[in-house]
Amino acid sequence: MSGILYVVPTPIGNLEDITLRALRILKECDLVACEDTRQSLKLLSHFGISKNLISFYSYNQQYRVGQIIDKLSDGKKIVLISDAGTPGISDPGYILIKETIEKGIKIEVLPGASAVVTALVGSGLPTNGFVFCGFLKRKTGKMKKELSEFINLGKTIVFYESPHRILKTVEICLEVFGENTKICLARELTKKFEEFIRGTIKEVLENIKDRNNLLGEFVVLIYPQSNEGKESD
Ligand code: SAM
Repeated sequence: MSGILYVVPTPIGNLEDITLRALRILKECDLVACEDTRQSLKLLSHFGISKNLISFYSYNQQYRVGQIIDKLSDGKKIVLISDAGTPGISDPGYILIKETIEKGIKIEVLPGASAVVTALVGSGLPTNGFVFCGFLKRKTGKMKKELSEFINLGKTIVFYESPHRILKTVEICLEVFGENTKICLARELTKKFEEFIRGTIKEVLENIKDRNNLLGEFVVLIYPQSNEGKESD
């Protein structure tokens, strides 16, 4: 009898954001596959859970997938978590999930924390349709091209960005979308210094450019001007 792969979201900051079902499944499973074993050990011990861990991160996932599939085929119950949020969303997971499905092994995905949805809902930008781009390409030209493709989609654009690139990225957004386009930077969600910086790109740029330590994790959300007036509830 084959086992089961559980894909389990973990908090993106506030530890209270783990679900009761996630905790039960973590307690009952045979093995936890995680990105950084030290980080996950801390999380599990916070909840009084002691489990065998196996590392599963971007550089070893190709090789780990086969091992995990073998264990699932032997009937093991395995949980996949990432350092924070939902596995597979700009985190390792896709390759294992795809292989598990192709092998006909059971899989259950738990709903839970992810920065993309929390940021979108809190941004105040239209939520009826959105396009999530993960991390954009880093080179300026490629980033501009990628962003330009979404101008006329009629949807809110959402992507992840690191603190040391945020200023440059907002400057690029100004060039691509124009200074009066609405933007929101969702920073440090669910954490002590949570902040939604909302306004036009010009206003937000003015807000952040004089801050000398714009630290933390960011989600960037943009609603292109060409969409204005088309939003619905
Ligand atoms: N799997 C995660 C999820 O479901 O949201 C995303 C992991 S990705 C490697 C990390 C990026 O997600 C960060 O660079 C940041 O852009 C975004 N992120 C994660 N936690 C966040 C938070 N608490 N506040 C704002 N952005 C966050």
